[in-house]
Amino acid sequence: MNEWEAVAGLEVHVELRTQSKIFCGCKNEFGAAPNTQVCPVCLGMPGSLPALNERAVEYGAKAGMALGCDVMTYSRFDRKHYFYPDLAKAYQITQAQFPLCRDGVVRLEAGEIGVERIHLEEDAGKLTHTEDATLVDYNRGGVPLIEIVTRPDFRSGEQIAQFLRHVQQTMQFLGVSDCKMQEGSLRCDLNLSVRRRGSEGMSERTEIKNIGSISLAALAFEQECKRQIEIYERGGSVQRETRRLDEATGESVLLRKKEQFWDYLFFPEPDLPPVWLNEEKMVQWRNELPETALQKRERYQAQYGLSNYDAQALTATRETAQYFEACVALHADAKTVCNYIIGDLAALRKESDMQPEQNPVPPQMLVELITLVQEQKISIAASKTALRALFMHGGVVQDTVDRLRLWQQSDAKELRDIVCAVLNEQKQAAADVRAGKQNAVKYLMGQVMKQTGGRANPQVVMELIEMELTNETGKTE
Ligand code: ZN
Ligand code: MN
Repeated sequence: MNEWEAVAGLEVHVELRTQSKIFCGCKNEFGAAPNTQVCPVCLGMPGSLPALNERAVEYGAKAGMALGCDVMTYSRFDRKHYFYPDLAKAYQITQAQFPLCRDGVVRLEAGEIGVERIHLEEDAGKLTHTEDATLVDYNRGGVPLIEIVTRPDFRSGEQIAQFLRHVQQTMQFLGVSDCKMQEGSLRCDLNLSVRRRGSEGMSERTEIKNIGSISLAALAFEQECKRQIEIYERGGSVQRETRRLDEATGESVLLRKKEQFWDYLFFPEPDLPPVWLNEEKMVQWRNELPETALQKRERYQAQYGLSNYDAQALTATRETAQYFEACVALHADAKTVCNYIIGDLAALRKESDMQPEQNPVPPQMLVELITLVQEQKISIAASKTALRALFMHGGVVQDTVDRLRLWQQSDAKELRDIVCAVLNEQKQAAADVRAGKQNAVKYLMGQVMKQTGGRANPQVVMELIEMELTNETGKTE
């Protein structure tokens, strides 16, 4: 295996989260009933004319800036012809010759990946194959996409996974795409060839189309690598072909051979003027770029003294970072907030099968709970019980703490009776404490907690135990 080296590149399609489609006013929204978000333009009716959505250009340019690309002052749309039912016009409007962005670089832990270009284009419709028919939904037709074309810099599946995670996170933090792979808003094609280690030439490559998840992309890399090496080791040769990933097995199957490649017959789109971007616009967009996940991680460590691990977890998604910042803005302690977010809230979300952007506990609510703990009105354990109830059923913090009887018992008079009863019952433990065994104190505390359903204020209980035992000792001496 080790005498072989894989050389791979990615074409990543990212759906932009604009309000409307790229060349018409139809809504850009996932999940509507089939063929309800369509019009003559995105259905490619004769005589209809496209008009460019400027927001798509802005999002594309910002994506390029965030991936270290140069944004071009001049870019232009072309027609890419192919005949397939997902494409109503029988051509896709894309930027073939003059892309919006060029020459970026992405630095990953696993190495540096060059971005050759990023161009704007429209998405095609969605085909669903049933047993006896193919159904077409054109809602997705005309949704704005950026296509990120990397240089052939990938040598491992791990690099592929890191790159895709980086793209996903970057787009999410920019707010230009939600990159939900389960909704198809991030899809990629993998180009891969293998060569003997040390040789510089390029051997024949294959392309695996339309990979729908990060883990599948990494897996496709490994599988295709293995498949090509086996062919060479058998003395065969790899054919230029397009393949499709079987999501169940992770193996690729043949889609079409080289002779079946389409001739796309590119030519300039006559219905759209070229895109000119002036310096002023570029500077404005660059100034508008929000903090990246990496910048946030560094700031959280420097500003709040959080560990790298905590900072990573808090910046896993844009929603998590925003939630954290909203809580801290309400003057809650950063480390405490962090613990609740990456501990209890994450567990509750997982338990209820929720996405990171779903959070039924608004920042004010969490901060209110944290404040009650700080003021020693409820225990940490009680705050977790309340958090669970609020997460699952909603409600108001004070009422929930009332209803679940979570208020901490700090009244020394009430607690003294319980402490005395426990000391009477647990004579051996009491004797141990008098003999100086610290563990016995913990045991007695535990008994009092048990009696009070965990609501007793530990500080007060501790003082009471000490006081009672000292008094007793005084008596016997
Ligand atoms: Zn439309
Ligand atoms: Mn494309």
